[in-house]
Amino acid sequence: MNKPGIVFDTRYLDHRITQPTRENPDRLRSLFGAVKQQFNNRLETVQPREARLEDIEQIHSNFYLNQIREHAIKGDPFSYDKDTYLMELSLATAQLAAGGCLELADQIMGGSLEQGFALIRPPGHHAEPGRGMGFCILNNIAITAQYLQDHFQLDRILVIDFDVHHGNGTQEAFYDSDKVLFISIHQNNIFPFSGDIAEIGNAEGLGYNINIPVHSHFGDQEYTFLLGKLLQSVAEQYLPEIILVSAGYDGHREDSISSTFLSTHSFHTITTLLRQCARDICDDRLLFILEGGYNPVSLEKSVLATIDSLLQPHGSRVGILHSERADALFTNHPLHAFWTL
Ligand SMILES: [Zn+2]
Repeated sequence: MNKPGIVFDTRYLDHRITQPTRENPDRLRSLFGAVKQQFNNRLETVQPREARLEDIEQIHSNFYLNQIREHAIKGDPFSYDKDTYLMELSLATAQLAAGGCLELADQIMGGSLEQGFALIRPPGHHAEPGRGMGFCILNNIAITAQYLQDHFQLDRILVIDFDVHHGNGTQEAFYDSDKVLFISIHQNNIFPFSGDIAEIGNAEGLGYNINIPVHSHFGDQEYTFLLGKLLQSVAEQYLPEIILVSAGYDGHREDSISSTFLSTHSFHTITTLLRQCARDICDDRLLFILEGGYNPVSLEKSVLATIDSLLQPHGSRVGILHSERADALFTNHPLHAFWTL
């Protein structure tokens, strides 16, 4: 087994403002040290590069990119909304975040890595083609999925988003496409207030956008059941060539931004399920990309749990307990028959 590849770089701390905000460099500062201390020689450290504008432009509009560039040149702080700020080094940091994902994608496709984890910021899954929002400037995972189509001719990419918020930007980027199957499990009725079950894709993408909005207080049993069943039914029918994961840890019970109830260990279990699926279906190709997680302590514990799971020998299985209230989300889902959920 190859070592998992990890991207981290202190330049990810450069995007910051003076006002207090949940998405700040402290999220990663101690995480880098903890990962090094616990796993150093068992991981392959991968140096990020800055994503090229031509790759970013495949997802984001020129109008939006020009706006970001202007603020970077002028160095005047600017806010898209109360959470999404831009300052002098924001564009460079965001390009380095997207580029860290592309570097891992290249190495996974080249066969030198099987699995990777991009420990990056700013996060990306809320960034829409035409605007930044919800702490996100560039949509790292969408840029990566498009890059894999353009440079490696992949046409079945599975994106699993388990951040507690809906990945609206990723959904929008591929809403008309069947080349990316987007699955988002998120808490209902919280920011960004999208992600209804009725949003199922359009045109060629009809059926390839699966939203599973969950109730507050859903926890380990419900998530394990939901993900296990989705991977069993949807992934086995779709047969992805790679699995990309929007790994957000803000559904942790200690993260005050949400009211779902996931334990640290649940992220170990989630990772084991994803690894099994990647092993069975797509030659182990699995790429985690950091999204949210705003309690630095639970974020650190949860990322360490994910990496620990990536390092376990293959073959560990996860027992999935039935969850009545989670199963009800499938029964009522408009794609119930389409994917035999
Ligand atoms: Zn989130």
